[in-house]
Amino acid sequence: MKKETRLGISVKRDEDYGNWYSEVCRFGDLVEYYESVKGIYILKPSAMKIWKTIQRLFDAEIEKMNVEEYYFPIFVPGSALEKEKNHIEGFAPEVAWVTRAGDTELATPFALRPTSETVIYPFFSKWIRGHRDLPLKVYQWCNVVRWESSDPTPFIRSREFLWQEGHTAFATKEEADREVLDVLNIYSRVYEELLAVPVIKGIKSENEKFAGGLYTTSIEAFIPSTGRGIQAATSHSLGQNFAKMFDVTFEDKKGKRSMVWQNSWGLSTRSIGVMVMTHGDDEGLVFPPRVAPFQVVVIQVPIKGAADDQVLCNACEAVKSTLQEAGIRAKVDIRDNYSCGWKYADQELKGSPLRIEIGPRDLANDQVRIVRRDTGAKMDVKRGGMIEQVKDLLEKIQRNLYDVAKRKVEECTQKVETWDEFVKALSQKKLILAPWCDEVEVEKDVKKRTRGDETGGGGAKTLCTPLEQPELRKDTLCFASGKPAKKWSYWGKSY
Ligand code: AMP
Repeated sequence: MKKETRLGISVKRDEDYGNWYSEVCRFGDLVEYYESVKGIYILKPSAMKIWKTIQRLFDAEIEKMNVEEYYFPIFVPGSALEKEKNHIEGFAPEVAWVTRAGDTELATPFALRPTSETVIYPFFSKWIRGHRDLPLKVYQWCNVVRWESSDPTPFIRSREFLWQEGHTAFATKEEADREVLDVLNIYSRVYEELLAVPVIKGIKSENEKFAGGLYTTSIEAFIPSTGRGIQAATSHSLGQNFAKMFDVTFEDKKGKRSMVWQNSWGLSTRSIGVMVMTHGDDEGLVFPPRVAPFQVVVIQVPIKGAADDQVLCNACEAVKSTLQEAGIRAKVDIRDNYSCGWKYADQELKGSPLRIEIGPRDLANDQVRIVRRDTGAKMDVKRGGMIEQVKDLLEKIQRNLYDVAKRKVEECTQKVETWDEFVKALSQKKLILAPWCDEVEVEKDVKKRTRGDETGGGGAKTLCTPLEQPELRKDTLCFASGKPAKKWSYWGKSY
Protein backbone atom coordinates (compact mmCIF):
# COMPACT_ATOMS: atom_id res chain seq x y z
CA MET A 1 0.00 0.00 0.00
CA LYS A 2 1.21 3.52 -0.76
CA LYS A 3 2.80 5.23 2.24
CA GLU A 4 1.48 8.68 3.04
CA THR A 5 4.29 11.07 3.92
CA ARG A 6 2.80 14.58 3.94
CA LEU A 7 1.51 15.49 7.37
CA GLY A 8 1.56 18.49 9.62
CA ILE A 9 1.56 22.22 9.53
CA SER A 10 4.41 23.93 7.71
CA VAL A 11 4.31 27.22 9.65
CA LYS A 12 4.32 28.14 13.33
CA ARG A 13 1.20 29.64 14.79
CA ASP A 14 2.93 32.67 16.26
CA GLU A 15 5.12 33.31 13.22
CA ASP A 16 2.56 33.24 10.41
CA TYR A 17 -0.90 33.15 11.93
CA GLY A 18 -2.86 33.50 8.68
CA ASN A 19 -1.23 30.55 6.96
CA TRP A 20 -1.20 28.53 10.18
CA TYR A 21 -4.97 28.96 10.45
CA SER A 22 -5.58 28.05 6.84
CA GLU A 23 -3.38 24.93 7.09
CA VAL A 24 -4.85 23.82 10.38
CA CYS A 25 -8.36 24.01 8.90
CA ARG A 26 -7.39 22.12 5.77
CA PHE A 27 -4.90 19.54 7.05
CA GLY A 28 -6.98 19.04 10.20
CA ASP A 29 -9.76 17.94 7.83
CA LEU A 30 -12.32 20.59 8.71
CA VAL A 31 -12.61 22.20 5.29
CA GLU A 32 -11.62 21.90 1.67
CA TYR A 33 -11.21 25.06 -0.40
CA TYR A 34 -13.70 25.35 -3.24
CA GLU A 35 -11.11 26.66 -5.67
CA SER A 36 -13.60 27.74 -8.35
CA VAL A 37 -15.30 30.37 -6.17
CA LYS A 38 -13.23 32.48 -3.78
CA GLY A 39 -14.45 32.62 -0.21
CA ILE A 40 -16.51 29.44 -0.39
CA TYR A 41 -15.53 26.30 1.50
CA ILE A 42 -16.59 22.69 1.71
CA LEU A 43 -17.32 21.70 5.29
CA LYS A 44 -16.04 18.20 5.99
CA PRO A 45 -17.48 15.67 8.47
CA SER A 46 -15.52 16.96 11.50
CA ALA A 47 -16.86 20.48 10.98
CA MET A 48 -20.38 19.19 10.42
CA LYS A 49 -20.24 17.04 13.57
CA ILE A 50 -19.21 20.08 15.63
CA TRP A 51 -21.95 22.15 14.02
CA LYS A 52 -24.51 19.44 14.85
CA THR A 53 -23.42 19.47 18.50
CA ILE A 54 -23.90 23.24 18.58
CA GLN A 55 -27.32 22.77 16.98
CA ARG A 56 -28.37 20.24 19.61
CA LEU A 57 -27.55 22.52 22.55
CA PHE A 58 -29.14 25.49 20.85
CA ASP A 59 -32.31 23.61 19.85
CA ALA A 60 -32.82 22.32 23.40
CA GLU A 61 -32.45 25.81 24.88
CA ILE A 62 -34.52 27.63 22.30
CA GLU A 63 -37.34 25.12 22.68
CA LYS A 64 -37.60 26.16 26.33
CA MET A 65 -38.27 29.68 25.06
CA ASN A 66 -41.08 28.42 22.81
CA VAL A 67 -39.35 29.44 19.61
CA GLU A 68 -40.42 27.21 16.71
CA GLU A 69 -38.39 25.96 13.79
CA TYR A 70 -39.42 26.89 10.23
CA TYR A 71 -37.73 26.88 6.88
CA PHE A 72 -38.04 29.97 4.69
CA PRO A 73 -36.87 30.29 1.05
CA ILE A 74 -33.41 31.46 0.04
CA PHE A 75 -34.80 33.90 -2.61
CA VAL A 76 -35.66 37.48 -1.70
CA PRO A 77 -37.59 39.66 -4.16
CA GLY A 78 -35.70 42.89 -4.76
CA SER A 79 -38.74 44.93 -3.78
CA ALA A 80 -38.87 43.33 -0.30
CA LEU A 81 -35.13 43.66 0.26
CA GLU A 82 -35.30 47.38 -0.48
CA LYS A 83 -38.18 48.14 1.86
CA GLU A 84 -36.13 49.10 4.92
CA LYS A 85 -33.76 51.85 3.73
CA ASN A 86 -30.96 51.46 6.29
CA HIS A 87 -31.12 47.70 6.02
CA ILE A 88 -30.56 47.62 2.27
CA GLU A 89 -27.90 50.33 2.52
CA GLY A 90 -25.99 48.15 4.98
CA PHE A 91 -26.25 44.97 2.98
CA ALA A 92 -26.33 46.16 -0.67
CA PRO A 93 -22.60 45.73 -1.40
CA GLU A 94 -22.73 42.10 -0.29
CA VAL A 95 -25.94 40.95 -1.95
CA ALA A 96 -25.67 38.31 -4.69
CA TRP A 97 -28.45 38.31 -7.30
CA VAL A 98 -30.06 35.70 -9.53
CA THR A 99 -30.80 37.50 -12.77
CA ARG A 100 -31.29 34.70 -15.28
CA ALA A 101 -32.99 31.31 -15.56
CA GLY A 102 -31.49 29.32 -18.42
CA ASP A 103 -31.44 31.74 -21.37
CA THR A 104 -34.19 33.96 -20.02
CA GLU A 105 -33.43 37.18 -18.21
CA LEU A 106 -35.72 37.36 -15.17
CA ALA A 107 -38.15 40.26 -15.21
CA THR A 108 -37.55 40.74 -11.50
CA PRO A 109 -34.20 39.49 -10.23
CA PHE A 110 -34.04 37.72 -6.90
CA ALA A 111 -31.45 38.22 -4.19
CA LEU A 112 -29.96 35.29 -2.31
CA ARG A 113 -30.73 35.98 1.34
CA PRO A 114 -27.91 37.73 3.19
CA THR A 115 -30.23 37.42 6.22
CA SER A 116 -33.99 36.77 6.19
CA GLU A 117 -35.77 39.75 7.75
CA THR A 118 -37.15 40.72 4.36
CA VAL A 119 -38.21 37.17 3.50
CA ILE A 120 -39.98 36.51 6.78
CA TYR A 121 -41.67 39.77 7.77
CA PRO A 122 -44.23 39.86 4.95
CA PHE A 123 -45.49 36.63 6.55
CA PHE A 124 -45.43 38.13 10.02
CA SER A 125 -47.69 40.80 8.56
CA LYS A 126 -50.02 38.08 7.28
CA TRP A 127 -49.93 35.81 10.33
CA ILE A 128 -50.23 38.40 13.07
CA ARG A 129 -53.75 39.80 13.48
CA GLY A 130 -54.55 40.24 17.14
CA HIS A 131 -52.72 40.25 20.47
CA ARG A 132 -53.39 36.51 20.80
CA ASP A 133 -51.02 35.88 17.86
CA LEU A 134 -48.19 37.34 19.90
CA PRO A 135 -45.47 36.68 20.70
CA LEU A 136 -44.56 35.05 17.39
CA LYS A 137 -41.16 33.39 17.60
CA VAL A 138 -39.57 31.58 14.68
CA TYR A 139 -36.09 30.42 13.81
CA GLN A 140 -34.35 28.46 11.10
CA TRP A 141 -31.07 26.71 10.37
CA CYS A 142 -29.94 27.60 6.87
CA ASN A 143 -27.24 28.99 4.62
CA VAL A 144 -26.88 32.67 3.80
CA VAL A 145 -24.88 34.42 1.10
CA ARG A 146 -22.86 37.61 1.69
CA TRP A 147 -20.46 38.54 -1.08
CA GLU A 148 -17.86 39.87 1.36
CA SER A 149 -15.01 41.79 -0.24
CA SER A 150 -12.54 41.66 2.64
CA ASP A 151 -10.26 38.68 3.26
CA PRO A 152 -12.34 35.51 3.05
CA THR A 153 -11.22 33.11 5.78
CA PRO A 154 -12.69 29.64 6.43
CA PHE A 155 -15.55 29.83 8.95
CA ILE A 156 -14.63 33.36 10.04
CA ARG A 157 -15.66 35.23 6.92
CA SER A 158 -17.05 33.25 4.03
CA ARG A 159 -19.37 34.19 1.21
CA GLU A 160 -21.77 31.38 1.90
CA PHE A 161 -22.11 30.22 5.49
CA LEU A 162 -24.38 28.21 7.72
CA TRP A 163 -26.15 29.81 10.62
CA GLN A 164 -29.19 29.88 12.77
CA GLU A 165 -31.34 32.97 12.58
CA GLY A 166 -34.23 33.80 14.87
CA HIS A 167 -37.03 36.31 14.26
CA THR A 168 -39.54 37.29 16.89
CA ALA A 169 -42.37 39.76 17.39
CA PHE A 170 -43.80 41.00 20.70
CA ALA A 171 -46.58 43.25 21.87
CA THR A 172 -44.29 45.25 24.15
CA LYS A 173 -40.76 46.60 24.06
CA GLU A 174 -40.08 45.17 27.53
CA GLU A 175 -40.72 41.60 26.38
CA ALA A 176 -38.59 42.12 23.28
CA ASP A 177 -35.72 43.65 25.29
CA ARG A 178 -35.77 40.71 27.69
CA GLU A 179 -35.53 38.23 24.85
CA VAL A 180 -32.55 40.02 23.26
CA LEU A 181 -30.55 39.23 26.40
CA ASP A 182 -31.97 35.73 26.92
CA VAL A 183 -30.74 34.76 23.47
CA LEU A 184 -27.38 36.45 24.05
CA ASN A 185 -27.02 34.25 27.14
CA ILE A 186 -27.60 31.10 25.10
CA TYR A 187 -25.00 32.23 22.57
CA SER A 188 -22.57 32.90 25.36
CA ARG A 189 -23.19 29.38 26.72
CA VAL A 190 -22.54 27.84 23.29
CA TYR A 191 -19.14 29.54 23.25
CA GLU A 192 -18.16 29.15 26.89
CA GLU A 193 -19.64 25.77 27.78
CA LEU A 194 -19.26 23.90 24.50
CA LEU A 195 -16.42 25.58 22.66
CA ALA A 196 -14.47 26.61 25.79
CA VAL A 197 -14.08 30.11 24.37
CA PRO A 198 -14.43 33.05 26.78
CA VAL A 199 -16.62 35.86 25.44
CA ILE A 200 -17.68 39.33 26.51
CA LYS A 201 -21.35 40.28 26.40
CA GLY A 202 -21.99 43.82 25.31
CA ILE A 203 -23.80 46.38 23.21
CA LYS A 204 -22.56 47.51 19.82
CA SER A 205 -21.97 51.17 19.01
CA GLU A 206 -24.27 53.09 16.63
CA ASN A 207 -21.65 52.62 13.88
CA GLU A 208 -21.45 48.91 14.39
CA LYS A 209 -25.09 48.00 14.98
CA PHE A 210 -27.20 45.91 12.60
CA ALA A 211 -28.38 47.81 9.53
CA GLY A 212 -31.96 48.89 10.16
CA GLY A 213 -32.04 47.81 13.82
CA LEU A 214 -32.63 49.79 17.01
CA TYR A 215 -29.67 48.39 18.96
CA THR A 216 -27.43 45.35 18.68
CA THR A 217 -26.03 43.22 21.46
CA SER A 218 -23.18 40.84 20.78
CA ILE A 219 -20.74 38.47 22.29
CA GLU A 220 -17.15 39.24 21.41
CA ALA A 221 -14.15 36.93 21.45
CA PHE A 222 -10.51 38.00 21.30
CA ILE A 223 -7.60 36.25 19.61
CA PRO A 224 -4.43 37.11 21.57
CA SER A 225 -1.98 35.92 18.87
CA THR A 226 -3.26 38.49 16.39
CA GLY A 227 -4.63 41.03 18.84
CA ARG A 228 -7.97 41.05 17.07
CA GLY A 229 -11.49 40.96 18.37
CA ILE A 230 -14.16 38.95 16.63
CA GLN A 231 -17.91 39.30 16.72
CA ALA A 232 -18.97 35.86 17.87
CA ALA A 233 -22.78 36.19 17.61
CA THR A 234 -25.40 38.93 17.66
CA SER A 235 -28.84 39.51 19.08
CA HIS A 236 -30.59 42.58 17.68
CA SER A 237 -33.47 44.69 18.86
CA LEU A 238 -35.13 45.84 15.64
CA GLY A 239 -37.53 48.13 17.45
CA GLN A 240 -40.48 48.96 15.19
CA ASN A 241 -38.56 49.88 12.01
CA PHE A 242 -39.32 46.69 10.15
CA ALA A 243 -42.87 46.53 11.59
CA LYS A 244 -43.51 49.92 10.01
CA MET A 245 -42.07 48.93 6.60
CA PHE A 246 -43.73 45.51 6.45
CA ASP A 247 -46.94 46.53 8.17
CA VAL A 248 -46.64 44.09 11.05
CA THR A 249 -49.45 45.30 13.31
CA PHE A 250 -51.89 43.77 15.77
CA GLU A 251 -55.10 44.71 17.45
CA ASP A 252 -54.43 45.11 21.17
CA LYS A 253 -56.79 44.17 24.01
CA LYS A 254 -58.60 47.51 23.70
CA GLY A 255 -59.12 47.05 19.96
CA LYS A 256 -56.41 49.58 18.99
CA ARG A 257 -53.96 48.82 16.11
CA SER A 258 -50.34 48.81 17.26
CA MET A 259 -47.02 47.94 15.72
CA VAL A 260 -45.12 44.95 17.04
CA TRP A 261 -41.63 45.10 18.60
CA GLN A 262 -39.20 42.82 16.79
CA ASN A 263 -35.88 41.08 17.38
CA SER A 264 -33.58 39.06 15.20
CA TRP A 265 -30.52 37.07 16.23
CA GLY A 266 -27.86 34.91 14.60
CA LEU A 267 -25.03 32.51 15.32
CA SER A 268 -22.97 31.15 12.44
CA THR A 269 -20.30 28.58 11.63
CA ARG A 270 -17.87 31.39 12.48
CA SER A 271 -18.08 29.85 15.96
CA ILE A 272 -16.08 26.85 14.73
CA GLY A 273 -13.34 29.15 13.41
CA VAL A 274 -13.16 31.08 16.68
CA MET A 275 -12.75 27.78 18.54
CA VAL A 276 -9.95 26.69 16.18
CA MET A 277 -8.17 30.03 16.59
CA THR A 278 -8.52 29.92 20.37
CA HIS A 279 -7.23 26.42 21.08
CA GLY A 280 -5.18 25.26 18.08
CA ASP A 281 -1.38 24.96 18.36
CA ASP A 282 1.67 24.20 16.22
CA GLU A 283 0.68 20.53 16.05
CA GLY A 284 -2.82 21.29 14.76
CA LEU A 285 -6.37 21.40 16.03
CA VAL A 286 -7.29 21.07 19.71
CA PHE A 287 -10.96 20.26 20.22
CA PRO A 288 -12.74 20.79 23.51
CA PRO A 289 -14.10 17.37 24.56
CA ARG A 290 -17.75 18.43 24.53
CA VAL A 291 -17.67 19.14 20.79
CA ALA A 292 -14.84 16.87 19.66
CA PRO A 293 -16.10 14.62 16.85
CA PHE A 294 -13.96 11.89 18.44
CA GLN A 295 -13.03 12.31 22.07
CA VAL A 296 -10.60 9.39 22.06
CA VAL A 297 -8.50 7.80 19.32
CA VAL A 298 -7.18 4.33 20.12
CA ILE A 299 -3.88 3.36 18.45
CA GLN A 300 -1.97 0.10 18.62
CA VAL A 301 1.78 0.23 19.23
CA PRO A 302 3.20 -2.88 17.57
CA ILE A 303 6.60 -4.37 18.27
CA LYS A 304 8.95 -3.62 15.39
CA GLY A 305 9.17 -6.53 12.98
CA ALA A 306 6.39 -8.57 14.61
CA ALA A 307 4.53 -10.37 11.86
CA ASP A 308 1.07 -10.36 13.34
CA ASP A 309 -0.40 -7.72 15.57
CA GLN A 310 -3.93 -9.03 15.37
CA VAL A 311 -3.98 -9.44 19.14
CA LEU A 312 -3.24 -5.73 19.53
CA CYS A 313 -5.86 -4.79 16.95
CA ASN A 314 -8.43 -6.85 18.80
CA ALA A 315 -7.48 -5.18 22.08
CA CYS A 316 -7.88 -1.75 20.46
CA GLU A 317 -11.29 -2.67 19.08
CA ALA A 318 -12.35 -3.97 22.50
CA VAL A 319 -11.21 -0.75 24.22
CA LYS A 320 -13.03 1.34 21.64
CA SER A 321 -16.24 -0.65 22.17
CA THR A 322 -15.98 -0.28 25.95
CA LEU A 323 -15.56 3.48 25.52
CA GLN A 324 -18.48 3.72 23.10
CA GLU A 325 -20.71 1.72 25.42
CA ALA A 326 -19.93 4.27 28.13
CA GLY A 327 -21.12 7.06 25.80
CA ILE A 328 -17.64 8.27 24.83
CA ARG A 329 -17.07 9.16 21.17
CA ALA A 330 -14.14 6.90 20.26
CA LYS A 331 -12.53 5.51 17.16
CA VAL A 332 -9.63 3.23 16.49
CA ASP A 333 -6.81 3.83 14.04
CA ILE A 334 -5.52 0.40 13.04
CA ARG A 335 -4.36 1.39 9.55
CA ASP A 336 -1.37 -0.85 8.94
CA ASN A 337 0.28 1.28 6.27
CA TYR A 338 1.18 4.00 8.79
CA SER A 339 3.67 3.91 11.65
CA CYS A 340 2.30 4.60 15.13
CA GLY A 341 4.37 7.84 15.24
CA TRP A 342 2.57 8.99 12.10
CA LYS A 343 -0.78 8.11 13.63
CA TYR A 344 0.04 10.05 16.82
CA ALA A 345 0.86 13.10 14.69
CA ASP A 346 -2.34 12.59 12.71
CA GLN A 347 -4.44 12.40 15.90
CA GLU A 348 -2.73 15.55 17.19
CA LEU A 349 -3.34 17.35 13.90
CA LYS A 350 -7.02 16.41 13.94
CA GLY A 351 -7.51 17.57 17.50
CA SER A 352 -8.98 14.65 19.46
CA PRO A 353 -8.61 15.43 23.17
CA LEU A 354 -7.26 12.00 24.18
CA ARG A 355 -5.19 9.26 22.62
CA ILE A 356 -5.05 5.75 24.01
CA GLU A 357 -1.99 3.72 23.08
CA ILE A 358 -1.95 -0.04 23.46
CA GLY A 359 1.25 -2.04 23.05
CA PRO A 360 2.38 -5.52 24.12
CA ARG A 361 3.62 -4.17 27.48
CA ASP A 362 0.18 -2.64 28.13
CA LEU A 363 -1.51 -5.93 27.24
CA ALA A 364 0.77 -7.84 29.60
CA ASN A 365 0.02 -5.38 32.43
CA ASP A 366 -3.71 -5.12 31.65
CA GLN A 367 -3.35 -1.38 31.18
CA VAL A 368 -3.57 1.35 28.54
CA ARG A 369 -1.54 4.51 28.07
CA ILE A 370 -3.60 7.72 27.90
CA VAL A 371 -2.12 10.89 26.36
CA ARG A 372 -3.72 14.34 26.66
CA ARG A 373 -3.82 16.53 23.55
CA ASP A 374 -3.89 19.80 25.49
CA THR A 375 -0.89 19.25 27.78
CA GLY A 376 0.83 16.20 26.29
CA ALA A 377 0.68 14.53 29.74
CA LYS A 378 0.83 10.71 29.65
CA MET A 379 -0.45 8.21 32.16
CA ASP A 380 -0.76 4.43 32.41
CA VAL A 381 -4.16 3.31 33.61
CA LYS A 382 -5.50 -0.17 34.50
CA ARG A 383 -8.16 -1.34 32.02
CA GLY A 384 -10.67 -1.69 34.87
CA GLY A 385 -10.46 2.01 35.78
CA MET A 386 -10.16 3.32 32.24
CA ILE A 387 -13.69 4.66 31.75
CA GLU A 388 -13.66 6.64 34.95
CA GLN A 389 -10.23 8.10 34.10
CA VAL A 390 -11.25 9.01 30.56
CA LYS A 391 -14.42 10.75 31.73
CA ASP A 392 -12.50 12.62 34.40
CA LEU A 393 -9.79 13.66 31.93
CA LEU A 394 -12.33 14.87 29.36
CA GLU A 395 -13.89 17.12 32.00
CA LYS A 396 -10.45 18.37 33.06
CA ILE A 397 -9.43 19.14 29.47
CA GLN A 398 -12.66 21.02 28.83
CA ARG A 399 -12.06 23.18 31.91
CA ASN A 400 -8.35 23.60 31.24
CA LEU A 401 -8.89 24.83 27.68
CA TYR A 402 -11.36 27.43 28.90
CA ASP A 403 -9.15 28.52 31.80
CA VAL A 404 -6.05 28.87 29.62
CA ALA A 405 -7.99 30.83 26.99
CA LYS A 406 -9.54 33.08 29.62
CA ARG A 407 -6.18 33.76 31.25
CA LYS A 408 -4.63 34.64 27.90
CA VAL A 409 -7.39 37.14 27.12
CA GLU A 410 -7.13 38.65 30.59
CA GLU A 411 -3.37 39.03 30.19
CA CYS A 412 -3.99 40.86 26.92
CA THR A 413 -6.64 43.18 28.29
CA GLN A 414 -5.58 46.70 29.17
CA LYS A 415 -7.46 49.60 30.67
CA VAL A 416 -6.35 52.96 29.27
CA GLU A 417 -7.50 56.55 29.83
CA THR A 418 -5.48 58.62 27.38
CA TRP A 419 -4.85 58.60 23.62
CA ASP A 420 -1.12 57.88 24.09
CA GLU A 421 -1.88 54.89 26.28
CA PHE A 422 -4.41 53.73 23.71
CA VAL A 423 -1.98 53.89 20.78
CA LYS A 424 0.69 52.07 22.76
CA ALA A 425 -1.72 49.32 23.86
CA LEU A 426 -2.93 48.95 20.27
CA SER A 427 0.62 48.50 19.01
CA GLN A 428 1.02 45.77 21.64
CA LYS A 429 -2.07 44.00 20.25
CA LYS A 430 -4.10 44.51 23.41
CA LEU A 431 -7.81 44.27 23.98
CA ILE A 432 -8.40 47.80 25.17
CA LEU A 433 -10.98 48.98 27.67
CA ALA A 434 -11.31 52.75 27.43
CA PRO A 435 -13.69 55.47 28.64
CA TRP A 436 -15.65 56.87 25.70
CA CYS A 437 -17.99 59.79 25.01
CA ASP A 438 -20.17 57.51 22.84
CA GLU A 439 -20.11 59.82 19.80
CA VAL A 440 -20.34 58.32 16.31
CA GLU A 441 -17.89 60.84 14.81
CA VAL A 442 -15.30 60.12 17.50
CA GLU A 443 -15.34 56.40 16.72
CA LYS A 444 -14.98 57.17 12.99
CA ASP A 445 -12.06 59.46 13.80
CA VAL A 446 -10.31 56.80 15.91
CA LYS A 447 -10.71 54.37 13.02
CA LYS A 448 -9.16 56.87 10.61
CA ARG A 449 -6.28 57.76 12.91
CA THR A 450 -5.30 54.14 13.53
CA ARG A 451 -5.67 52.80 10.00
CA GLY A 452 -2.42 51.61 8.45
CA ASP A 453 -0.44 51.50 11.71
CA GLU A 454 2.19 48.80 12.26
CA THR A 455 -0.39 46.20 13.43
CA GLY A 456 -1.91 46.14 9.92
CA GLY A 457 -5.53 45.70 8.89
CA GLY A 458 -8.20 48.37 9.15
CA GLY A 459 -8.49 50.96 11.87
CA ALA A 460 -9.41 50.28 15.49
CA LYS A 461 -13.07 50.42 16.46
CA THR A 462 -15.30 49.62 19.36
CA LEU A 463 -15.84 45.90 19.83
CA CYS A 464 -18.63 46.45 22.34
CA THR A 465 -19.68 48.28 25.48
CA PRO A 466 -19.65 45.50 28.07
CA LEU A 467 -22.89 44.90 29.95
CA GLU A 468 -20.77 44.58 33.08
CA GLN A 469 -19.42 48.11 33.43
CA PRO A 470 -16.46 49.01 35.65
CA GLU A 471 -17.11 52.04 37.82
CA LEU A 472 -16.82 55.29 35.85
CA ARG A 473 -15.52 58.24 37.94
CA LYS A 474 -17.61 61.37 37.44
CA ASP A 475 -14.71 63.39 36.00
CA THR A 476 -13.51 60.67 33.59
CA LEU A 477 -12.82 61.97 30.08
CA CYS A 478 -13.07 60.19 26.75
CA PHE A 479 -9.64 58.86 25.76
CA ALA A 480 -10.09 60.07 22.19
CA SER A 481 -12.08 63.33 22.31
CA GLY A 482 -11.39 64.64 25.83
CA LYS A 483 -15.16 65.13 26.30
CA PRO A 484 -16.90 63.70 29.38
CA ALA A 485 -16.94 59.90 29.14
CA LYS A 486 -20.28 58.12 29.25
CA LYS A 487 -19.17 54.49 29.40
CA TRP A 488 -16.32 52.02 29.28
CA SER A 489 -16.04 50.30 25.90
CA TYR A 490 -13.78 47.64 24.46
CA TRP A 491 -11.71 48.79 21.49
CA GLY A 492 -9.37 47.02 19.13
CA LYS A 493 -8.73 45.80 15.65
CA SER A 494 -11.14 43.14 14.54
CA TYR A 495 -11.72 40.35 12.04
P1 AMP B 1 -25.53 39.54 11.53
O1 AMP B 1 -26.82 39.13 10.93
O2 AMP B 1 -24.72 40.39 10.62
O3 AMP B 1 -25.65 40.09 12.91
O4 AMP B 1 -24.69 38.19 11.66
C1 AMP B 1 -24.87 37.26 12.68
C2 AMP B 1 -23.56 36.61 12.99
O5 AMP B 1 -23.10 35.87 11.86
C3 AMP B 1 -22.45 37.61 13.28
O6 AMP B 1 -22.44 37.96 14.63
C4 AMP B 1 -21.20 36.86 12.89
O7 AMP B 1 -20.69 36.15 14.00
C5 AMP B 1 -21.68 35.89 11.84
N1 AMP B 1 -21.25 36.31 10.48
C6 AMP B 1 -21.46 37.50 9.85
N2 AMP B 1 -20.90 37.52 8.63
C7 AMP B 1 -20.31 36.30 8.47
C8 AMP B 1 -19.55 35.69 7.41
N3 AMP B 1 -19.31 36.32 6.26
N4 AMP B 1 -19.10 34.42 7.60
C9 AMP B 1 -19.36 33.75 8.74
N5 AMP B 1 -20.06 34.28 9.76
C10 AMP B 1 -20.53 35.53 9.64
